[in-house]
Amino acid sequence: MAFQLPELPYEKDALAPHISAKTLEFHHGKHHNAYVTNLNNLLGDDSRSLEQIMKDTVSDSGKAGVFNNAAQVWNHTFYWHSMSPKGGGKPSGAVADKINADFGSYDKFVEEFKAAGATQFGSGWAWLVLDGGKLKVTKTPNAHCPLTDGATPILTMDVWEHAYYLDYQNRRPDYISTFLEHLVNWDFANENLSKA
Ligand code: FE
Repeated sequence: MAFQLPELPYEKDALAPHISAKTLEFHHGKHHNAYVTNLNNLLGDDSRSLEQIMKDTVSDSGKAGVFNNAAQVWNHTFYWHSMSPKGGGKPSGAVADKINADFGSYDKFVEEFKAAGATQFGSGWAWLVLDGGKLKVTKTPNAHCPLTDGATPILTMDVWEHAYYLDYQNRRPDYISTFLEHLVNWDFANENLSKA
């Protein structure tokens, strides 16, 4: 069965003024949708899950198109859920305790997450992952996803220019601060941590 573009988990204007309806219209309706269309065109009929396709193709340079589109479909769906109209600020629950244990403090996590997003050269993603039983911040270029490196994604932030350019132009650090202060969905992080 062909892959479908998943619905956003909130209305297009729900993240405004931090992320505008215009950005979500393009980012979800055009960019995310194009990855779904490209993937279906490349694969034809395929019964594998997205995760399986990503694992099967990540090391195969002849399948880079399939990998890139499959991973971008997965990453974007995960990113929409990593934000919430009621998000932002400090975490609570198990993820809060584990951030304190593994980073030393929430502020140290913020410092590392901001640095990962700001220093990812060109397009890519910043992540909070569970790796070897510990929470870590990591970044990946282009479509790459920590899932294929054996880590469990807990949260992600898209740092491709298409994620922020309409609202922030070149000011990626402002977008990153806004993501942490107003958007990050710690309920989703707790859900992912409890399943890991
Ligand atoms: Fe994106």
